[in-house]
Amino acid sequence: MITEAVKKLIRDCVGPENVLESSIDRFGYSYDSSFIPMAKEHIPELVVLPSTTEEVAKVMAIAHQYAIPVTPRGTASGRTGGCIPVAGGLSLALTRMTKVLELDERNMMVTAEAGVRTIDIYHTCAQKGLFFPPDPASWKYSTIGGNIGENAGGMRAVKYGVTSNYVMGLEVVLADGTVLHTGGKAIKNVTGYNLTQLFTGSEGTLGIITKVLLRLIPMPKARNTLQLMFGSLDNACNTIHQMLMSGLVPAAAELMDKISLQAVARHRKLDISPDIEACVVLEIDGDTQADLLKQAERISAIAHSLQVIEVRIAQSAQEVDEIWAIRRGLSSAIGAMAPNRFGEDISVPRDAFPKAVRLIRDIGKKYHLTIAVYGHAGDGNIHPSILCDLSKEGEEEVVHRAVDEIFDAALSVGGTLSGEHGIGLTKRPYIAKALGHPGISTLKAVKQALDPKGILNPGKIWE
Ligand SMILES: Cc1cc2nc3c(=O)[nH]c(=O)nc-3n(C[C@H](O)[C@H](O)[C@H](O)COP(=O)(O)OP(=O)(O)OC[C@H]3O[C@@H](n4cnc5c(N)ncnc54)[C@H](O)[C@@H]3O)c2cc1C
Repeated sequence: MITEAVKKLIRDCVGPENVLESSIDRFGYSYDSSFIPMAKEHIPELVVLPSTTEEVAKVMAIAHQYAIPVTPRGTASGRTGGCIPVAGGLSLALTRMTKVLELDERNMMVTAEAGVRTIDIYHTCAQKGLFFPPDPASWKYSTIGGNIGENAGGMRAVKYGVTSNYVMGLEVVLADGTVLHTGGKAIKNVTGYNLTQLFTGSEGTLGIITKVLLRLIPMPKARNTLQLMFGSLDNACNTIHQMLMSGLVPAAAELMDKISLQAVARHRKLDISPDIEACVVLEIDGDTQADLLKQAERISAIAHSLQVIEVRIAQSAQEVDEIWAIRRGLSSAIGAMAPNRFGEDISVPRDAFPKAVRLIRDIGKKYHLTIAVYGHAGDGNIHPSILCDLSKEGEEEVVHRAVDEIFDAALSVGGTLSGEHGIGLTKRPYIAKALGHPGISTLKAVKQALDPKGILNPGKIWE
């Protein structure tokens, strides 16, 4: 319990109007976008909304002195319960820190506060012809601090990589309130351990990220979208492999299986032939329209050599939107197919994608569960969605067994538990299986060094 005297100290740091104390306000900070049921044990004792690094530092110094748990939070779009304050204490939301501080065109870098929305970083840079590629599907509402907390990926990862590939430096408030600066604008920098990357993907367990320095690249001048329909999942995957092996790297290469397509068809009232087993959506980019045409022709030739049923090359901006609407609408379309849904985020070596999908289908058959499979096939990141009805007796246990086996399947083909959503709460029970004892004890040693009192986002990543 936080005493009234300590609450007053915190109010004095950020102003009473920026400390939420009513139960209804606090309830709003007790859940995220994972499938974890809401619970009163997840309601923080206080919600704190700082607006400067100094305020964050003062709040952390108080939390450290009184051993109060602190759970950092962006906009709670996380899928694994990372910002759920399971240990009570403070929910520290960075959503008032929304300034883009500098767009350095000569060095092609942007500096921003942690609460800036991902899409705002993209647009600010795009206005100057600069490109920040990481594009999680949640980018309209996720924060850049949350993206770095989870090392978020996105559709363009196949060509451009994930968030960590663009983080050059960070300002981090440590557990005791010390302000640390890591990295910088020097492109080559091997001075000491790579602390920037240590905090990237640390899920709020090692420090509070308050400012970020991101690398940018020139904005591609031309882009187009292709949609390929296949009668076989293997042919769909092989088309992507052959493209990549021939040196054609699309900006995005998304794959949807038949169940996913049926979900979208039902949701958006589309007519999709029952012969279609898989759909691939590609974004290609380059310097000129002629470039794009050449790439589209080569992709089409590869797809035809693998019995593609239909190749659609977008002819207008409207057609681009129509094609991407299918992929973007997937999550809600699948969610509408059953009373409950468990979405996972495994990642496998690219060439194991078809095998992993087959293993997931077998698991679905074994447990009589419908599992829709879609994902970023270009980088091996698969999102299996288990559709179920938890009101049925025994269903929850069956789903958990299926999830267990999906993780085993990922590990068996050389993959891992999470490609982009992190471990948070939902994957805690499995992390030891993925990392082994030396891996876990190394993580714990790092945590102990940076947060000896264990106040930063307690209860996350491992049990
Ligand atoms: C519809 C939908 C689509 C999605 N698509 C993608 C996708 O394509 N790719 C992808 O990678 N993810 C995706 N996600 C997941 C989610 O959007 C990302 O994980 C995102 O990075 C979370 O950002 P956030 O601001 O909402 O962070 P939160 O959910 O608030 O927090 C996430 C984690 O980061 C920590 N954290 C937040 N801010 C800070 C900070 N300033 N300092 C330190 N730690 C911090 C939190 O403690 C928590 O552990 C999707 C989610 C939804 C709902």
